[in-house]
Amino acid sequence: MGPVMPPVVTRFAPSPTGLLHLGSAYSAMVARNRAREAGGRFLLRIEDTDIRRCRREYETAILEDLKWLGLDWDGAVRRQSDHFSDYGRALGRLDALGLVYPCFCSRAEIEREIAASASAPHGPDGPLYPGTCRHLAPAERKRRIAAGREHCVRLDSERSAAVAGPFEFIDERRGRIEGQPLLMGDFVLARKDTPTSYHLSVTVDDHLQGVTLVTRGEDILPSTHVHVLLQRLLGYATPLYAHHGLITDPTGRRLAKRDKDLTIRSLRESGLSPEEVRRRILAAAGGQA
Ligand code: GLU
Repeated sequence: MGPVMPPVVTRFAPSPTGLLHLGSAYSAMVARNRAREAGGRFLLRIEDTDIRRCRREYETAILEDLKWLGLDWDGAVRRQSDHFSDYGRALGRLDALGLVYPCFCSRAEIEREIAASASAPHGPDGPLYPGTCRHLAPAERKRRIAAGREHCVRLDSERSAAVAGPFEFIDERRGRIEGQPLLMGDFVLARKDTPTSYHLSVTVDDHLQGVTLVTRGEDILPSTHVHVLLQRLLGYATPLYAHHGLITDPTGRRLAKRDKDLTIRSLRESGLSPEEVRRRILAAAGGQA
């Protein structure tokens, strides 16, 4: 008997900060098609940990629009805000490994520190956190926490890189990619206003949901480096990745969430059928399936 291949499990993981638009509907189509072609499972996850920006009305609307488009998913929807304890457990494991620290800096303090330093390291989203609170003595950390000072929790990326050792991951289109554990610096694992972060919850959920193939836009490729780093630290398997191109308008301009006319809702209300909208999404994707 040959090796037993695990079944393909994909997911679509929208954040309910607005209506479903052409770009994210394309991501959903890719994930669903990849699962259906392989006789696998297509899961739906609502990434609503950013409680200030996410709204239940948008969640309901996204689910409705996906159904209208014929993009049916398997099993129950996983809503991240119902699972904070899962992220808390993962954070506790990283803490037990000595890889996290509380950070009390305000945004303004971070900006001042960066402006004052001659060569602040940059990541894909701009300057990286300069590491100010990494150097606080344990007693001082305790004192500030006891005093009720607001803080987020960050990963000590250098220590984590040393613990994880060299790693790589596979992107279907790009092949083997060498992991860059320091790409995002000491990124946030739990925010001041919510007990997790995008990077932590996406890593925990892809593991808990048994996702084997992560399909998503190539704008998220830089984040994959730190997701794989977290997988190594937490002892999770690394899925296969397929980062797809972003869809553009006929002039080649990337579609943005703010292009209100490109929501599935507006196309639907203009009288187009689900088939026509699906065709339009694929056309905007330039034939990438
Ligand atoms: N929630 C993310 C977004 O809406 C997607 C993250 C992912 O697919 O890993 O951009």
